[in-house]
Amino acid sequence: TAKMYYNDDISQTALNGKTVAVVGYGSQGHAHAQNLRDSGVEVVVGVRPGGSWQKAQEDGFQVSSVAEAVAKADVVMVLLPDERQPEVFKQEIEPHLTAGKALAFAHGFNVHFHQVVPPNDVDVFLVAPKGPGHLVRRVFEEGGGVPALFAVHQDASGEAKEVALAYSKAVGAGRAAVMETTFKEETETDLFGEQAVLCGGTTALVKAGFETLVEAGYQPEVAYFECLHELKLIVDLLYESGLEGMRYSISDTAQWGDFTAGPRVVNDGTKEEMRKILSEIQSGQFAKGWVLENQANRPMFHAINEQEKHHPLEVVGRELRAKMPFIQSKKKGVVGSAKG
Ligand code: NDP
Ligand code: MG
Ligand code: MG
Repeated sequence: TAKMYYNDDISQTALNGKTVAVVGYGSQGHAHAQNLRDSGVEVVVGVRPGGSWQKAQEDGFQVSSVAEAVAKADVVMVLLPDERQPEVFKQEIEPHLTAGKALAFAHGFNVHFHQVVPPNDVDVFLVAPKGPGHLVRRVFEEGGGVPALFAVHQDASGEAKEVALAYSKAVGAGRAAVMETTFKEETETDLFGEQAVLCGGTTALVKAGFETLVEAGYQPEVAYFECLHELKLIVDLLYESGLEGMRYSISDTAQWGDFTAGPRVVNDGTKEEMRKILSEIQSGQFAKGWVLENQANRPMFHAINEQEKHHPLEVVGRELRAKMPFIQSKKKGVVGSAKG
């Protein structure tokens, strides 16, 4: 079982007198920077000129180039897109990452798969919130926290763990749960979760359900509400009270259907495929494919992304969400979505 930490178990003093450079001001970056600042931590933001730079400035941060921010900081939290990190690390971070500083990540991908190789004389840790960045900020403002994993990859100072825990507390995770893990476990479980369950599994399930209904002659609007919109209401119940709590709220007819049909949809074959997906993650095969896809300028990523936009589910969904202004989109230009 995992070692758990909560606010009462954690001292924030390891961050006293330290400056944290939040590198990148996107989904995670804006949330870390603002939560840390609200927790009394000295924060500078490092980013390239453009939209994020402007946003960080509007939010009242001292903004500079990545190199300058790293030079000023004791703790450098890298919140750039994973596929950009190796290049920015080489050019702008490593030259200013002097002995005794700490290098931190919100995902272990690059360190675990050797795309970023930190020098020996710095601390290396991760604090990975288990939720989309916009929720990391929103839940914190509401007085709660999104749980996080933390791990120490390299302890040069002898206090890497204390700094990682202090960071977890300052970002608000100690209000929910802070779990100790390794870079390997965080990386592999995070990739597996997003592929098999949270993102890949869910989008494929929603699409298959929608297509089945529409192909059988039912109206796309009805299929959209049934298979996508209502999922949020069900997920909220799961989040609040688990499978049992969700089943308490649905009708007994729905619960009987859940028991009898669920294992037919997600069956032994599905689980066998999940095991393959996991072993491709563990072997580095997935990481290699993604690194090469990026080096090739993402031919498949772009082609599939374009195809997906034209799926009938998306076409009808855009129209329906436009009529429901109470649904707020976190991503400009996309109605009703939050990046994660
Ligand atoms: P985003 O894509 O939302 O944000 C990336 C940020 O990096 C933007 O501010 C972008 O600025 C900036 N950036 C991109 N390229 C450069 C560059 N060359 N130089 C300087 N700044 C640059 O990233 P995420 O927040 O999604 O991901 C950050 C990390 O957090 C990743 O390691 C990810 O795995 C991890 N993570 C993400 C989660 C999430 O909720 N999204 C959940 C848990 C972990 P610009 O506007 O100029 O492009
Ligand atoms: Mg994740
Ligand atoms: Mg991830």
